Amino acid sequence: MEKLIKVLSNEDIFEEYKGTPIEKLLNYHNLGYPFEEYEKAELLVGMCMDNRKQLKIPNNFSYIIRSGGGNLRYSEFKVSYAIAVGGVKAIALIGHNNCGMVNLMSKKEKFIKGLVENAGWEEKQAEEHFTSFAPMFEIENEIEFLLSEAKRIRTKYPKILVAPLFYNVDENILYLIKEE
Ligand SMILES: [Zn+2]
Repeated sequence: MEKLIKVLSNEDIFEEYKGTPIEKLLNYHNLGYPFEEYEKAELLVGMCMDNRKQLKIPNNFSYIIRSGGGNLRYSEFKVSYAIAVGGVKAIALIGHNNCGMVNLMSKKEKFIKGLVENAGWEEKQAEEHFTSFAPMFEIENEIEFLLSEAKRIRTKYPKILVAPLFYNVDENILYLIKEE
């Protein structure tokens, strides 16, 4: 079983993240550390597009890729760019509770109706759109998805530190995840 660790002091941060941009991210966002100045990015954050999340981090500190569920499978060129050209050595993959990408299939009717009413689409077109893209973004469980995505990215970029983190949207706080 994975365990969520609420980071409320610097001592809560795992040893493997000490001295890395992951520690800095947690210090800034959770612990209110004063912002340092950055000339270049040290971190890449992959997080959900969800409107309830906003990271408290200094300008220039991090690249951020936002997508449904924090899924980076369709953003790989951007990940490679941040590593190769941006020079980042660490990736924070941030999932969150109550993610809209969980059980996406249950939102099919609403999705189609919304595109027809709000965007002026034809119903058939909206349905096809949903059917072809929903399976790419649907996730079953936020934390399990996050851990499998972390594993996938570690395999792809073996020299990069990849940290799965969990954002609680009710508290605006990041949790660490103890991986088995
Ligand atoms: Zn989400």
